[in-house]
Amino acid sequence: MHLKEALDILEQIAFYLELKGENVFKINAFYTAIRNLSNYDISLNEAFEKEIIQNTKGVGKSILSILKELNEKNETHVLNELKSEFPEEIYALTQIRGLGAKKIKKLFDELRISNLDELEQACIENKLMKIPGFGEKTQSNIFANIERIKKTKGKLLLHKADLIKDEIINQLNSKGIKIVVPTGSLRLRSKTISQLDFLILKEDFERVSKSFELKRLSDFEYGSSYKEHNVVFHLSDNNEFSYRLVETTGTDDFLNRIKFKTLKEKKFKTEEEVFASLTLPFIPPQARENSNLELKQYDFPDKNSLRGLIHIHSHYSDGSSSLEEIKKESGRLNYEYVLICDHSKSAYYANGLDEKKLKEQWKEIDSINSTNSKTKLLKGIECDILVDGSLDFDDGILSQFDCVIASVHSRFSLSKGEMTNRIIRALKNKHVKILGHPTGRLLLSRDPYQIDMHEIINVAGGEGKSIELNCNPYRLDIDWEFIQYAISKGVLITIAPDAHSITEFNYVKYGLDMAIKGGAEKKDIVNCLTLEEFLIKFCRK
Ligand SMILES: [Zn+2]
Ligand SMILES: [Zn+2]
Repeated sequence: MHLKEALDILEQIAFYLELKGENVFKINAFYTAIRNLSNYDISLNEAFEKEIIQNTKGVGKSILSILKELNEKNETHVLNELKSEFPEEIYALTQIRGLGAKKIKKLFDELRISNLDELEQACIENKLMKIPGFGEKTQSNIFANIERIKKTKGKLLLHKADLIKDEIINQLNSKGIKIVVPTGSLRLRSKTISQLDFLILKEDFERVSKSFELKRLSDFEYGSSYKEHNVVFHLSDNNEFSYRLVETTGTDDFLNRIKFKTLKEKKFKTEEEVFASLTLPFIPPQARENSNLELKQYDFPDKNSLRGLIHIHSHYSDGSSSLEEIKKESGRLNYEYVLICDHSKSAYYANGLDEKKLKEQWKEIDSINSTNSKTKLLKGIECDILVDGSLDFDDGILSQFDCVIASVHSRFSLSKGEMTNRIIRALKNKHVKILGHPTGRLLLSRDPYQIDMHEIINVAGGEGKSIELNCNPYRLDIDWEFIQYAISKGVLITIAPDAHSITEFNYVKYGLDMAIKGGAEKKDIVNCLTLEEFLIKFCRK
């Protein structure tokens, strides 16, 4: 079991304890442990072996024994018993933004609401707004949330789909099945995934069917499910594997565009050969989803073409890594420069920096840079765009940063005109160089705010500003569908992991996937600039 799965289970336990009205200290211990363990991207077993669990603050006797049980049995009697005391689907209510255990308890105690359908019905009948603490606005927000959940049911964010994909591959590999290749939307690297597709060899079919219950869809396709997610296994003959890989990756539209069906031959050694025989250059899977891209050779970026790591939070605001750790890890990954961007003072919920803390941070950055190291830390900020489009620091402070990213973090519900003007005013501030997560959306959970994206791109182009492609898999914002338009207006794209710990540096890979999908080449990407070029083009003069 992955550590993150174990933490999900701890979170469920904390939820049920709160529902039961247990002691607050006991419940808080769970949240402390979850928070302190959330930055490790390792298995639970590894966390035990490295003694991380044993040495983490908040992990007392009872949490330790739960984690041990999970590690040994993949389940815990604590959760099973708690669950049995409540209606089966009540935990599903936590999917709704703003509904924590306290409010769910109220809903259950007052209206006996225990699942999404009952909650939806109560909203329709205006019952929620009569409960203290739930006004009319809360009720309509909850209703909108339920509708979104219904619409997105069964869809997975890309990073979660990747975790499940790895589990399936590992499971089959451990059974001696060596060739299990992700295909379909997993391989296209779509923003969200509703079906996990794999290409396997015909000869392995029997062995796969021992691990998965398979339902025949056609001679070459068998459906299954894993942890309630749709899985499809596609079968291929050994010598047709590359052909089948192109075919199953899709999309249908792409296959039509490349005239895939005109191929007379199915035996190819590589995908490149398939494309060559259609007299086309190889188009990487990510780009095949974009039907507006020309079928030509592109100079797409990869991990090694990125020289700068941009938009990194440190423990000065809401990140969990120190500047030293950030420098060390980015050095190990061969980055030339790192733009540190903590939150500005208005972002009190994220421990935003005031002028005094900024000065401390700058001093530490100077001191780290004075030591001999190949990676240079740059002084940046993710500065809040206030409601009128002004910025969270005055010009005197702004002029002292190497580079300013400006983002909206509040008042999401302005009208389209107001929000567009707010952002345009910020873009026109001479200190701002990059616009952070331009629409504020959270995939599968929060809609973008209302803005005129074309207008914002036009202004960014005119002002010589960059727009961020936030790589956090919840955001992937700017959406790839706007990238070609941005490039056509001369806007460079910044691939920004928005990392809150060094383990999140790898979010960059999702940004690269989306950049390629949007048709961004190395020349269109800010991070591909050398330190010197970055300083000239995007930093204070
Ligand atoms: Zn932000
Ligand atoms: Zn950020």
